[in-house]
Amino acid sequence: KAKTSGFPYLFYTQKMTEAMAHKLSLENQLRQALDNEEFVLHYQPKVNLASGKLTSAEALIRWNDPRTGLVPPARFIPILEETGLINDVGRWALHKAIDDYLRWHNAGLAAVRVAVNVSPLQLRDRGFSGQILQAIDIHEQAPSGLELEITESLIMADVKHSIASLQTIRAMGISIAIDDFGTGFSSLSYLSKLPVDTLKIDRSFVIEMTESSEGLLLVSTIINLAHSLKLKVVAEGVETEEQASMLRRLHCDEMQGYLFSKPVPGEIFETRFLSPLLLK
Ligand code: C2E
Ligand code: CA
Ligand code: CA
Ligand code: CA
Repeated sequence: KAKTSGFPYLFYTQKMTEAMAHKLSLENQLRQALDNEEFVLHYQPKVNLASGKLTSAEALIRWNDPRTGLVPPARFIPILEETGLINDVGRWALHKAIDDYLRWHNAGLAAVRVAVNVSPLQLRDRGFSGQILQAIDIHEQAPSGLELEITESLIMADVKHSIASLQTIRAMGISIAIDDFGTGFSSLSYLSKLPVDTLKIDRSFVIEMTESSEGLLLVSTIINLAHSLKLKVVAEGVETEEQASMLRRLHCDEMQGYLFSKPVPGEIFETRFLSPLLLK
């Protein structure tokens, strides 16, 4: 009996040790990635559904691992959050996005806004608004075209503190979008109290919208609700013409998704989407 019970236990601990070692090495690699400036921002355009015009760009982080190439955020953001490294990487992303935004702006390129994703841990950090002020200060210009995307679940985790932080940030002229709207648990009474400007409808709802009448009703309800609260609505993950025309009929304000463009490196975003507008 002792023989058979000992084996699985050993096996289990060995697997655990391997997993822990893997995590530890990944953590060290991510630390180095920050030092070696291996993180990059890609930008995905958002367009106005009625006019078809480019309105803004969402900055999406990637790790350019010299050994394996581009690593998507889903593979490393959770580890950055677990280790607290997200604060440093998040600060880097904020500075880099403001930098790109001001460079495009000062070059007289199209007046696009830039949106930066903010992690739960960053907003929870009491020094976060100070960090933004510092970023703005360094660049000596109030980036009124800057937007922060914050996931719904995070805002709801600590509503009181979130409202206070969001108010401070908005007072700097920065706008706030609720990301992945519909996937969290916000109640309508809270939504009307949140100091935000935009709702981003999660991709899962955009998919459901053309699959069932309930899905359509849900998206149309979210759009009407947002508009009655004077919020702008952006649909994410729009991949088909069918989805785009349905959203247009529902008076959704903007869309973002592979139909228009995948996220692209900053230089490509600049040449493909900004420079041609100079000629007009
Ligand atoms: P998100 O903020 O919801 O970003 C949208 C994700 O959907 C992006 O994935 C984007 O590439 C993808 N996407 C856009 N259009 C389409 C489409 O038409 N079809 C499909 N299938 N996907 C589409 P990505 O870039 O892999 O980012 C994943 C998540 O990682 C983001 O979700 C965001 O939560 C997080 N993230 C990205 N950059 C940052 C960052 O700088 N800081 C933090 N804290 N989180 C970030
Ligand atoms: Ca986002
Ligand atoms: Ca989103
Ligand atoms: Ca999403």
